[in-house]
Amino acid sequence: MSELMTVETAAAAAYIVAALLFVLALAGLSRHETAKAGNTFGIGGMAVALAATIGLAIHQHISGLGLVLTIAAMAVGAAIGLWRARVVEMTAMPVLIALLHSFVGLAAVLVGWNGFLHVEATLDGGPLSGEAGALAAQELLGIHSAEVFVGVFIGAVTFTGSIVAFLKLSARIKSSPLMLPGKNYLNLAALAAFAVLTTWFVIDPALWLLIAVTVVALALGWHLVASIGGGDMPVVVSMLNSYSGWAAAASGFLLENDLLIITGALVGSSGAYLSYVMCTAMNRSFLSVIAGGFGIEAGPADDKDYGEHREITAEGVAELLGTAESVIITPGYGMAVAQAQYGVAELTRKLRDRGVDVCFGIHPVAGRLPGHMNVLLAEAKVPYDIVLELDEINDDFARTAVVLVIGANDTVNPAAAEDPGSPIAGMPVLQVWNAENVIVFKRSMASGYAGVQNPLFYRDNSAMLFGDAKDRVEDILRAL
Ligand code: NDP
Repeated sequence: MSELMTVETAAAAAYIVAALLFVLALAGLSRHETAKAGNTFGIGGMAVALAATIGLAIHQHISGLGLVLTIAAMAVGAAIGLWRARVVEMTAMPVLIALLHSFVGLAAVLVGWNGFLHVEATLDGGPLSGEAGALAAQELLGIHSAEVFVGVFIGAVTFTGSIVAFLKLSARIKSSPLMLPGKNYLNLAALAAFAVLTTWFVIDPALWLLIAVTVVALALGWHLVASIGGGDMPVVVSMLNSYSGWAAAASGFLLENDLLIITGALVGSSGAYLSYVMCTAMNRSFLSVIAGGFGIEAGPADDKDYGEHREITAEGVAELLGTAESVIITPGYGMAVAQAQYGVAELTRKLRDRGVDVCFGIHPVAGRLPGHMNVLLAEAKVPYDIVLELDEINDDFARTAVVLVIGANDTVNPAAAEDPGSPIAGMPVLQVWNAENVIVFKRSMASGYAGVQNPLFYRDNSAMLFGDAKDRVEDILRAL
């Protein structure tokens, strides 16, 4: 290479290209028409980043066994990643994402500990040498110690927080909020301990201080997410996405890797913005959610008796649809589980051919992913122009003959609008109960993800069509 173009400058140039590709990826992913292109930019950026980082590492210090181990670790990681991405069900995506966030957090903790072992652990009062000597010469030892602490803290919070999110989303633990006495004070005490320990560590970087902050942060991450109720989990997932970005940025400072800092900051800020947008859509306080449900107290258990529910058969629904002039379909997580979207699209076509006015009402957190229902309906070729957002459709329910609630529960729960004591109180919901007839497709009377009873099922204008949503939709198609 020429004198002007060293491996280091080539890597720096590649990092700028990768950073630009990541910005284009984020811009592309913000609209469904450009999402595919956004994904391609992201893949391109990551390929450039990996090639530049490996090239630089080989040039600077990795050789022999180190190189073989690095390539072997990457091959194993890539094989597992490829396999998981191929087999994962759409409904299990948030679970996988939560698990992946935990890896980023764990990596940041390990990078922080590695930084400590290379620098602070070598300070034995004698003359300074190696990395510690180089940092001391530039008067950067204190900054390094602070970076170690901040990286370990954010990483550990992200790690345990994501593990709890993974356990809640995969229903391995209950989604209801953990209500320890004085929970807000516990969180504040953990933050105060972090501030004190950091100052202490910068002055006297002892091993026990690093162990203490790791334990405090692991406990804080666990508690923050455990204290949040099921209905707020979408915001938690995007918040953890943001934390994982900041954890990566902290690692970037320790590893002196500019691209990691830029990428971490992009993920951190876009994740925080997505959380803010979702909080606004769900009428939740952003600060309350990131502070582990700050200000939310446990309400009384909802063991109210709502009376009897009414059942209907597929033939009965077909008869009702035969005379209806307007139909709104509100899909939810159950449609994704049953993979009923194709039958639902077929039913929509049949009804529209008969002159019925059919449209869809989509709640921003229906399903288990932002945009989950839109993706399923687009996959089944439902036209975009009849798929409406919550605020576009809520006034139309009162003028609608039949609403088909297909596997939705929390997102159509009147308690959110009518019961101030409900754990989901204040969350905007699809006001399906204002329609003339509401048909609820589900398998039992079980509650939805937030674990809250749904009084909709007991209303006079509601009827339950029990069974797997796909089977029941096919029964209706046959009866029509
Ligand atoms: P819910 O999770 O509230 O309810 C889904 C309903 O579908 C259940 O009551 C279940 O009842 C029914 N169901 C499940 N499988 C089937 C099947 N095969 N056939 C028919 N019905 C079925 O769904 P919503 O979409 O209304 O609400 C989403 C919830 O998930 C909200 O609380 C939201 O906050 C949360 N969440 C959303 C995320 C997002 O980003 N969108 C991420 C994380 C959480 P039964 O078992 O009786 O059949």
